[in-house]
Amino acid sequence: DALRALLLSRIHDVPDYPKPGVMFKDITPLLADPVAFGALTEALAALCRTHRADKVVGLEARGFILAAPVAVSAGVGFVPVRKAGKLPGATLRQTYDLEYGTAEIEIHSDAVRPGERVLVIDDVLATGGTAEASLHLLRRAGAEVVGVAVLLELGFLGGRQRLQASLGDTPLEAL
Ligand code: 5GP
Repeated sequence: DALRALLLSRIHDVPDYPKPGVMFKDITPLLADPVAFGALTEALAALCRTHRADKVVGLEARGFILAAPVAVSAGVGFVPVRKAGKLPGATLRQTYDLEYGTAEIEIHSDAVRPGERVLVIDDVLATGGTAEASLHLLRRAGAEVVGVAVLLELGFLGGRQRLQASLGDTPLEAL
């Protein structure tokens, strides 16, 4: 549809970034276009309302850029999930596997109240590792994850399949 076409037209392919053989999807042209960015924000805010989310969770770093205006538009709070070592308070930490080595993400232990409904937002779903770790982290923090929403899903990387078990009935929506 029109929204999908607009969003896709503002995502640019950058070959061989960050390393040879990788086609990077660059969303900065979309962010620079107020019409496209606004339409994306409103589409995500609509999901927020549909799922009756109490908070939106942004995944560092581009997830922050997308989720923050959604929080304001939908009238809900924003919670950051950060790379380890960046949050000042007491945190919960989740380790996950990368192609080479591991990565760690954190959330403030008191960022969500038990049973609070959260919508997770990121820009791109690739292998699904980041989203999977976020789901585990948020549930450990007591949240009810009511959805995972991304701008772009790279289907050929199998993220959706990887997430199947962790998602259960929780919807994964790619705009
Ligand atoms: P995954 O954990 O699903 O493999 O990778 C997803 C994470 O890596 C997301 O946080 C996303 O921001 C980033 N990422 C991976 N590939 C791309 C890409 O092609 N473009 C952008 N913008 N981000 C990507």
